[in-house]
Amino acid sequence: MRIVHTIDELREALEPARGGTIGLVPTMGAFHAGHLSLFRAAREGCESVVVSLFVNPAQFDSRADLERYPHDEGRDARLAEDAGVDFLFCPPTEELYPPGYQTWVDVEELSRPLEGEFRPGHFRGVATVCCKLFNLVRPQVAYFGQKDAQQVAVVRRMVRDLDLEVEIRVVPTVRDADGLALSSRNALLSPAEREAALALPRALATRDPVQARALLNGLDVDYLEIADFEPRVLAAAVRVGKTRLIDNVPLEIPCQASAWLGPTSKGATE
Ligand code: AMP
Repeated sequence: MRIVHTIDELREALEPARGGTIGLVPTMGAFHAGHLSLFRAAREGCESVVVSLFVNPAQFDSRADLERYPHDEGRDARLAEDAGVDFLFCPPTEELYPPGYQTWVDVEELSRPLEGEFRPGHFRGVATVCCKLFNLVRPQVAYFGQKDAQQVAVVRRMVRDLDLEVEIRVVPTVRDADGLALSSRNALLSPAEREAALALPRALATRDPVQARALLNGLDVDYLEIADFEPRVLAAAVRVGKTRLIDNVPLEIPCQASAWLGPTSKGATE
């Protein structure tokens, strides 16, 4: 695996790979099995796999949140290499946002509700960095997690609206055995907070907003709503201590069975 830090190095490194399919996985690092599942999908689907590791300041609405975000480039590089990634692109902030930077991609309507309401400017940051990464890497395929369902909807809309030549593939949410969706932010939870956080997947597993609301009783809920993405999802965000967690379950597509959900009214499991 080759690690590159600058745009020039990235372009030069990718030159020989241009004849084949290039898959891109955009990430903010602190890799877990969710990221590895995206790397695996990219490895299976593409001749060259590029992973970007960039904690994008533009998508954080709070400086404290940005500063708390876990970083460990050495560990991430080892995990990416073991997963068969070919190129790890880790640019410093100034490489993507040089002094004087002032151009933004705003996917207006889809960015407003849910996460957008509680994290103003978040999706402007996400769409902008994804657009830049698509321009730099020029992948035929880019991989995203269902865990961030609204992000998928925003990125897909941007790709359509700006006529970008990239296919967006979505990988199912990877969970711990107890149902908690893997997230880099889980590392910030104390054992008691982690236990409290289990209410989130349990609530979503009902696939019913009323029952879910009851199960989240006592937690600080930003939103719990059915969102009309493709597929439709029941999505929620909760705050556990200082950590904000998001999760969702698709309502229409029966996915792989897993023990944590149990039977549901529609017989669908994720
Ligand atoms: P992040 O590093 O948190 O920005 O995530 C990078 C990519 O990994 C995004 O497309 C996320 O949706 C995806 N991802 C994060 N957590 C999971 C998970 N538990 N299962 C599947 N994909 C995930």
